[in-house]
Amino acid sequence: MIPFNFDYYKPESVEEALKIYSNEWKLGKKVVYLSGGTEVITFARGGKLTVDTVIDLKGIPECNVLEMQGEELVIGAAVTLNRLVESNLFPLLRKTVRTIADHTSRNKITIGGNLMSKLGYREGILPLLVTDALAIINGPKGTDVMSVDNLAASELVEGQFLTQIKVSSKNLELPFVHLKRTRSSNVGYPIVSLAALRKENRIRIAFSGLHEHPFRSAVVEGVLNDATIGDEQRVEKAIAKLPTNITDDFIASKDFRRFILEKLLTEMDTAWEGNG
Ligand SMILES: Cc1cc2nc3c(=O)[nH]c(=O)nc-3n(C[C@H](O)[C@H](O)[C@H](O)COP(=O)(O)OP(=O)(O)OC[C@H]3O[C@@H](n4cnc5c(N)ncnc54)[C@H](O)[C@@H]3O)c2cc1C
Repeated sequence: MIPFNFDYYKPESVEEALKIYSNEWKLGKKVVYLSGGTEVITFARGGKLTVDTVIDLKGIPECNVLEMQGEELVIGAAVTLNRLVESNLFPLLRKTVRTIADHTSRNKITIGGNLMSKLGYREGILPLLVTDALAIINGPKGTDVMSVDNLAASELVEGQFLTQIKVSSKNLELPFVHLKRTRSSNVGYPIVSLAALRKENRIRIAFSGLHEHPFRSAVVEGVLNDATIGDEQRVEKAIAKLPTNITDDFIASKDFRRFILEKLLTEMDTAWEGNG
């Protein structure tokens, strides 16, 4: 049970959502947007979140789009992970989100909720990082287009919400790898999860589980693409170039994460899927 009362709104347009936000905010209320609601409800039940007003984005048509529009795949923030799996419009994204939670939870969890999650994993963002995807953000000051790289590293401004993600069709069918290790099975919070693709003979790679937020690193990519270094040394050197401190928590120690990462980077050489 959620131990407090709150107002619930389900707007049918971006403009209506922003109007509700602005009205509630002016009254001094704490407002949160919600897509799938699984994290908001869990946090509220557990006493980690209190809120006066919830704005459910599922009624907004733009947030439910999942289709090719010209040269882009457009993914609405309220599209569930299972819809992404079933559509198979983006094989690397399909493979990645299939390992998030169980099938029943994936019927509720949305890509927008995963990308904006307060938990650090946000694995759905990995395929978007390596394809230079763009995030469409709406807020009180209008519409912004932001690189997914920025979305991974920073929080949205008060009142803004993620509406859509756009991925160029040129990047959807490239050879890819997704590898993940958890404590017990293929599904669950990652010790390390990585998504990589090969474009114009260069590897692009992004990681979750290693740091407080998912990231893609140009320096690590530089090492992995350096043909002058032998395979074993390349993996060692890439790990040494990680730009951040490796996470050390109840899921895995820093050293164990490093060990798993080494294994996954070695495994990557033989794990490529798709064309090319
Ligand atoms: C059983 C289980 C297993 C899980 N395993 C994994 C895993 O392996 N890997 C992984 O990465 N994650 C995992 N998760 C975490 C899950 O992906 C996140 O909790 C995710 O936030 C849930 O999505 P949702 O749509 O229900 O989010 P919601 O509860 O709707 O929202 C989550 C957060 O995002 C904000 N938000 C939602 N939509 C928007 C938007 N459009 N714009 C701006 N802010 C928004 C909300 O305000 C809230 O702060 C797991 C969760 C469960 C329940």
